[in-house]
Amino acid sequence: MLVQMAIGDAYGAGFEYASAEFVLANHRLTMYVQHPKHKLVPGVYTDDTQMSIANAEVILAGILSREAFAQAYVDCFKRDQREGYASGFYNFLCSVKDGEEFLSLMKPISDKSGSAMRALPFGIYPDIEVVIALATLQSTITHNSFHGINAAVAAALMSHYFLYQLGPKSELGAFIEKHVPGTWAEPYTIPVAQKGWMSVRSAITAIMGNDSMTEILRASVAVTGDVDTVAALALGAAAACSEVKQDLPEFLERDLENGAYGRDFLADLDAKLMAKMADLKAEKAASQQVAVSGPRILVVQSPEQWTGAINSQSFLEIPTALDVQKEENAWFAAGGDSSGKSFVEHLLALGATRLTVEVWNINYQ
Ligand SMILES: [Mg+2]
Repeated sequence: MLVQMAIGDAYGAGFEYASAEFVLANHRLTMYVQHPKHKLVPGVYTDDTQMSIANAEVILAGILSREAFAQAYVDCFKRDQREGYASGFYNFLCSVKDGEEFLSLMKPISDKSGSAMRALPFGIYPDIEVVIALATLQSTITHNSFHGINAAVAAALMSHYFLYQLGPKSELGAFIEKHVPGTWAEPYTIPVAQKGWMSVRSAITAIMGNDSMTEILRASVAVTGDVDTVAALALGAAAACSEVKQDLPEFLERDLENGAYGRDFLADLDAKLMAKMADLKAEKAASQQVAVSGPRILVVQSPEQWTGAINSQSFLEIPTALDVQKEENAWFAAGGDSSGKSFVEHLLALGATRLTVEVWNINYQ
């Protein structure tokens, strides 16, 4: 996920907001391209990947709070300061000393792509409610706006959909539309401006319309605009899609930066994320197994008596706050059986739950 994301990010960074003529002339998928205006070194990734690393590290550490996310954004930036951030946010990260100061000074009103570009790692959680909750939580720190949050949740669901093989690639947009307001299934092929939903929709379009990583990258960058984010999201999510041919040209991995936080570091983090995902799946399966087996009760008879019967019996589970004696008096006062409701039905209406339990009556010696 993160290696492919960094590849899309670094390749796209050479074309971010570059003119259509420059993209047409240089987007040939044969080398990382020097951006016509920025000083970014070809093959070096930007904010999209660095902030995804931060979210991935918070997931692996296991303490998922606003404070932990904010601290991770500051730590990842300060240990490996790099270009590619929007200048306002770059200066903000330079100026704050820790996560606490980040949270106290940040005005989280943006609806741009910042919280969506870093949301793919949340897709590893098995429960969609958890994916949505975590993508939302991390978005509220910097992008606490309707469109900002929706874009982040949609991005997290892109990776979740493929990691858990929830359906065919052609249904990706429709799947996201079921869970997030927006027209995510509609193709978006015009130049991508700064809004988060534009990058995410463009990435969804690139994946749905192409069957190989090379063609997805080609399409992601060809739209022009904020294409490092589009390509990062599209390749990061499509890396887990079984319908997509993993055929990226060799130079993309070979020439991707490989310093302290480069290719090998990202591959290691990817492996840890996949191991975490396997643990989360196993935990979920174990908890479901307990629920499926249900309760069984063993009644021990006297040693001389052999009955050997196994029956199902019904019980009522009574909420702690329900006073059964008081309810019985009330039920009798209302006419008892002639009220048209048995006492059991009366208790069920008040919140009691019917349990069917296997009861084993055996001669236990
Ligand atoms: Mg970027």
